[in-house]
Amino acid sequence: MKSGKEYRESLRKLRPEVYYLGEKIDSVVDHPAFAPHVNAAALTYDMALAPEFEELLTATSHLTGEKVNRFTHIHHSHDDLVKKVKMLRAIGQQTGSCFQRCVGHDGLNAVYSVTYEIDRKKGTEYHRRFIELLKKVQSEDLMISGAMTDPKGDRRLSPSQQRDPDVYVHVVERKSDGVVVSGAKMHITGAVNSHGHLVMPTAAMKQEDADYAVCFYVPVDTPGVIHIFGRQTNDTRKCQCFLDQGNVDYGMVGGEALIVFDNVFVPWEHVFMCGEYEFAYELVERFATAHRQNYGGCKTGLADALIGATYALAQVQGTDRASHVRDKIVEMVHLAETLYCCSIACSCQGYALPAGSYMADPLLANVTKLNVTRHIYEIARLAHDITGGILATAPSENDWKDPRVGKYVDKYMRGVAEVPAETRIRLIRLLESMTCGTALVESMHGAGSPQAQRIMIERRANLEHKKRLAEKLAKIGEQPLFVC
Ligand code: SF4
Ligand code: FE
Repeated sequence: MKSGKEYRESLRKLRPEVYYLGEKIDSVVDHPAFAPHVNAAALTYDMALAPEFEELLTATSHLTGEKVNRFTHIHHSHDDLVKKVKMLRAIGQQTGSCFQRCVGHDGLNAVYSVTYEIDRKKGTEYHRRFIELLKKVQSEDLMISGAMTDPKGDRRLSPSQQRDPDVYVHVVERKSDGVVVSGAKMHITGAVNSHGHLVMPTAAMKQEDADYAVCFYVPVDTPGVIHIFGRQTNDTRKCQCFLDQGNVDYGMVGGEALIVFDNVFVPWEHVFMCGEYEFAYELVERFATAHRQNYGGCKTGLADALIGATYALAQVQGTDRASHVRDKIVEMVHLAETLYCCSIACSCQGYALPAGSYMADPLLANVTKLNVTRHIYEIARLAHDITGGILATAPSENDWKDPRVGKYVDKYMRGVAEVPAETRIRLIRLLESMTCGTALVESMHGAGSPQAQRIMIERRANLEHKKRLAEKLAKIGEQPLFVC
């Protein structure tokens, strides 16, 4: 297994094409805009080597019997599913931000099980190929992005009906040694600081969309793979100041990018679905279930740090004993622990797939994520309520350091007399970075937008069964009592 330092060194050896603010980036690892995301991902390596986290962050490979980082492991029990959630909470508590590596982990698990089933039905050899990639990922401890969301163009139209065929990733040419693909994937977490991308279809496909039912792996610096890094709220602070960043080490969210595939060649050994459109939905649902299972883990870890910051700030401001503040902090804990309950429950209710791997219960995983879209906003709202308007109006670090006005900032930013103003400013900035702008949007749309969860919940709800329960209780269909 790699350390965080070795992970950084391995990234320095790669040459991905990355753009940010109109500039081509030479080294992602050494640029301040990307450093927090690299740091957060690096922690998934360092914590695996720390004895106190070994049980959560490592596992035994079912392929080689070797000890591997859990982010490269295929779940083979309920215990694996539960440990994943606990691992995510433990890391989220340390980073207070997204650490990105889970997306590829979920992709690995989804593709592992679906390729097995495609091969059984179609006589293909995707699973064997995928196992070779998996062995490499495990032995080299690679960080893989999970690239699912296409730009989608006109939402009324299916992939093959779009005027621009590239709004969904698709095969443009089949060759004897591989395929050529074009298109793009959007909002891809950790894309620029991954070693490679696992690309999956984004939705159910019909026969006419067969060219869009494609799943493959590409190293991050493959020719024709172009990364355009997304803007985040207050992102220029990363290059301008220290204190005002808030979460200086780990940033605000995962660091998402638009990945363009401009006629990219993929050898057959890295192709894991090519035209088997009837398996596209299954792959989407397995990946979505795995990633939605996570959100009561990582977000609860973040919420732990967020609640801690709010509580500490209330103490610094002298409001911590006010009954309404205590009540609101209890409410924040209640909301966070509800999310954790959801993630643990969908893990415990998980089951084995034909390939022998395990997945979480899809209905409960979707409920988990749908709750995240509400509870994290409510937790943030309560943090804003307790913090006060100063969250939006605090003077800058530069003014605090200014020889003329700095003393006024220091004097008037102080809360209780015993605590320096700097403590209050640091906590305010941390809360700002964790609850304002991009950070919240990730809770809404990461792992799929709320409507995507509602669709899967409806599919799994078994409303007819519920109706039959009611009809039995109401004795519908039995001998009529009243005859008109
Ligand atoms: Fe992992 Fe959470 Fe980030 Fe998704 S949002 S990649 S589950 S830390
Ligand atoms: Fe996410």
